Amino acid sequence: MDKQTSDFYFYASGYFLLACAVIVLSTTNTGVGQITSAPKVVKPLLCFNVESDELRTSDTEQGCMAPEESLGISPIIHSEVRPTQLDRTFEVRFLAAQAAAKLAGFNIRITSGFRSQQLQERLFNDAVKKYGSEKEASKWVLPKDISHHPWGIAIDVNYPGDRKAVKWLEENGSSFGLCRVYLNEWWHFEPVIAPGEPCPPMMANALESLPTVETAEVK
Ligand SMILES: [Zn+2]
Repeated sequence: MDKQTSDFYFYASGYFLLACAVIVLSTTNTGVGQITSAPKVVKPLLCFNVESDELRTSDTEQGCMAPEESLGISPIIHSEVRPTQLDRTFEVRFLAAQAAAKLAGFNIRITSGFRSQQLQERLFNDAVKKYGSEKEASKWVLPKDISHHPWGIAIDVNYPGDRKAVKWLEENGSSFGLCRVYLNEWWHFEPVIAPGEPCPPMMANALESLPTVETAEVK
């Protein structure tokens, strides 16, 4: 290869690498530009002022300011670690619903929320005695490992008590991400949706909520 030819290849490869760099950088910059110039638009976030009972809409993901707390933007599922109390976002959803119910003339309150596994086990054993089998009992009280009460994501409202007020929650709870989930339990609510989404059809009873394998285990 003579000098002219090797110079040509030297410069040509240099320009080629430069062109590649420009393309890579401009692509990267465009990506960054898109993120910074157009913030992710999220659905309105509901912020509940836990001191004044006021509910406010925010159009940004982190728009709740103390003493406001967020009602969250998705269904609430249980954590990996066993909790020791009710999920706080779930509790805030209930507080917001409770304030709205009060304005409508209804009093709702949690009569059973978080339960220890020991308590759930005792309630389940009592139910087995009452209903005669684990399967029948599970239509009303689930075993401690499965029930959503010890996971802090289930509440019983006004039970046993003012059923009419709970009807208000059944009809209006979806605005706060709260749903009645079982046809046989008018008092039991869970945060299974994002606030504002429609509640799913109710299951006949708690036994129906068990995965097939677990249903087979419960006799
Ligand atoms: Zn319950």
